This record gives sequence, C-alpha cells and structure tokens, in this order.
Amino acid sequence: MPCSLWPPVNKEEYKGVWVYLEREGSRLKDVGLELLGKARDLAQKLGGAEVGGVIVAGTEEMAREAVYHGADKVVIIDNPDLKVYTPAEYAEAIAKVVGKYKPEIFLIGATKRGRELAAYIANTLTTGITADCTALEIDPKTCDLLQIRPTFGGTQLATIRTPQRRPQMASVRPGVFPKPPRDTSRTGQIIVEKVEIAKRRTRLVSIEKRLEKDVADLPPVESADVVIAGGRGLGSVEGFKLLIDLAKLLGGTVGASLMAVRAGWAPHTRQIGQTGKTIRPKLYIAVGISGAIQHLMGIMETKTIIAINPDPHAPIMENADYAVVGDYKQILPLLIEEIKRLKS
Ligand SMILES: Cc1cc2nc3c(=O)[nH]c(=O)nc-3n(C[C@H](O)[C@H](O)[C@H](O)COP(=O)(O)OP(=O)(O)OC[C@H]3O[C@@H](n4cnc5c(N)ncnc54)[C@H](O)[C@@H]3O)c2cc1C
Repeated sequence: MPCSLWPPVNKEEYKGVWVYLEREGSRLKDVGLELLGKARDLAQKLGGAEVGGVIVAGTEEMAREAVYHGADKVVIIDNPDLKVYTPAEYAEAIAKVVGKYKPEIFLIGATKRGRELAAYIANTLTTGITADCTALEIDPKTCDLLQIRPTFGGTQLATIRTPQRRPQMASVRPGVFPKPPRDTSRTGQIIVEKVEIAKRRTRLVSIEKRLEKDVADLPPVESADVVIAGGRGLGSVEGFKLLIDLAKLLGGTVGASLMAVRAGWAPHTRQIGQTGKTIRPKLYIAVGISGAIQHLMGIMETKTIIAINPDPHAPIMENADYAVVGDYKQILPLLIEEIKRLKS
C-alpha cells in the first residue's frame, strides 16, 4: 500500500550500492570495509551495479583503501567545518552526496556514530532504515533489499523491505560480514566534493570532549571507593565541574545517570545503572539524580549513599542513608569549602 506521507519515488533513478566509510584517526574503520565486501555481493546480484563509498573529511589514501576493498567510486566530502565530528552537520553533508549520486542501497556501520548518523540521514532523505541487520539479500523477483534482523528478543528473524522509497538503508554492526581481501590491483574513481552545510554547530561534542578531558585523570567508576554522580538535575555541564572538584578532594571519581549522558554532559563510560556500569563504592553521592530503578540497579552494593535533591520524595531519597534536601548549587560549594577547611 503506498505511503501517503512519503509518496513512492521513481526507482529507475537510483542505481548502485553505496557505503558510508567512517574514519578513525587517519584510517578507515573496518566496519566500512566489511560493508564494501557485502555491497559488492549485493551489486553482483543486482546485475553488476556500481559500488560506491562516502568519506567525510577523508584523504585520497583512505579512498584508495576503499577501492582496494571493493569500491568502484569514492566520494570524499571536503569542507573545513567537518574536520571534527558533529552529527547534524555530518548527516547533512552525507545526505547531500547520497541525494546527488542516488544509490539504490546505502549501508552504514552500526557504530555509536553510525547509528546516530543513520537516523539523521534516513530522516533527511525521507526513507526507511533498518538497524542492526545480520543479513542482507536481494529479492530475486522485485530486486528490493531484504533487510534481515533479529526480533522478539532474538527468538525470530524479521525481513524488512523499503519497497516505495530510495535509497534502501540498513545499518550493520562491526564484525557481521567478513572484510574482503585487500586487492591493490583494483582501480576506481576518487571524487572530491565540496559540500556546503548550514552554519549551525551543535555544542554537544565539544562539551563532551571538554568533560572527557577533565575526567581523564580520575579513576573509572567501577574501581573507585568514592563516586560522585550527576543527573539531569545538574541542569548543565557546568554542574559537573563542582562534582569533579569534590571527587578530587575525596580521592574519588565522577559518574552520571543516563539522562546526564544523553544530554552530552558526561561520556557513556561514566554511566551507572542497568545499561551502564555496576559499581560497589564505599561512598556514593547522587546529585540531581531521581533514583529510577534502572539507575538504582547499578548502585545496589554501595555501602553508604548520600543524595542531594530538592524533592524529598524522589526515589533516591528513600534509598539514601543520608538525604540532603536542597539545591546542589548551594549545597556542594558549602560541602567543598568544609572539606577543604577540615583538610587544612
Ligand atoms: C531500558 C532502560 C535502561 C535504562 N538504563 C539506565 C541506566 O543504566 N542508568 C540510568 O541512570 N538510567 C537508566 N535508564 C533511565 C532511567 O529510567 C531514568 O530515566 C534516568 O535514570 C533518570 O535520570 P536522572 O535521574 O538524571 O533524571 P530525572 O529523572 O529527570 O531526575 C532529575 C532529578 O534532579 C533533581 N533536581 C532538579 N534540580 C536540582 C537541583 N538544583 N539540585 C539537585 N537536584 C535537582 C530533580 O528533583 C530530579 O529528582 C534506563 C531506562 C530504561 C527504560
């Protein structure tokens, strides 16, 4: 049945199987090369279609590596604003190139960044995306991409199609497909595209990087005796500065709730809870954290919990040994001063 929001596209305009090639420093990540191998397999099943690759702010050497691993054509997106990764800008640039070259299939490695980009790009191109595919096939009747992935907790496999829209997009985790052999006799076309993007830089990455630098000297949350963790109640990344000061004074480290990680205030390596780290510190200070069950699951074995929160009914307060009702911006500076005084 045709989709009323996104009407069918003219499929004849779309040709080839393309791959986003993520960089890691001065080289390409293996997952992109693995996908080039799969792209070649799909292209053959499509009657010898072209295999393409897209690299943002890459080098000719990287593009040549992609050719050696199966690409016929590689587009390097050239824009000085894209030297540092930011999701919206990268997605906009990639979507522009994909929109120009019109591949019928576009594959992305399901890395942390790949997942983020895939959603942005699919949304920009108004097409579908199937995440974490474990197999990709071509339907011999319709030539549609069969996007196969586990479902219902891994008990069944679902086959998903994008029959009306192009490109057909899928993400695949690293290691699912083998990396094709490196063949230095292969040749391909390398194109440098100067792609303009809107001037709106997100602050998320630079903030996360700043904090990552700040916490780099502190021990990991799993091994520290004292963990000071911040949540959404901190209101901004600046709140974490106070947490870092306190952690340093107490010889501890800093952690975060999922919401603080999502806000970009703390790196994922610092997340505590069901989908983060499980910790067993002697002292845990929860600042601006409500104490959702998924968070509490990560601190069950803590000896002493102190919670700082203006809401006396927040679940963390019931689970704390010491519940301090109030605004952390007033309480933490006083606590830091007092500890400094006692230490001197
Ligand atoms: C499958 C699944 C897995 C999950 N895994 C995790 C996980 O691993 N870790 C995790 O943390 N969460 C996890 N969550 C999310 C969890 O359910 C909560 O949404 C999350 O823990 C809430 O984060 P928070 O406490 O920082 O934010 P909120 O729930 O928004 O709480 C903010 C708190 O800050 C307080 N506050 C406001 N202003 C101030 C102030 N000035 N000073 C002090 N306090 C203030 C508020 O009163 C409030 O209690 C998971 C959820 C799901 C569904």
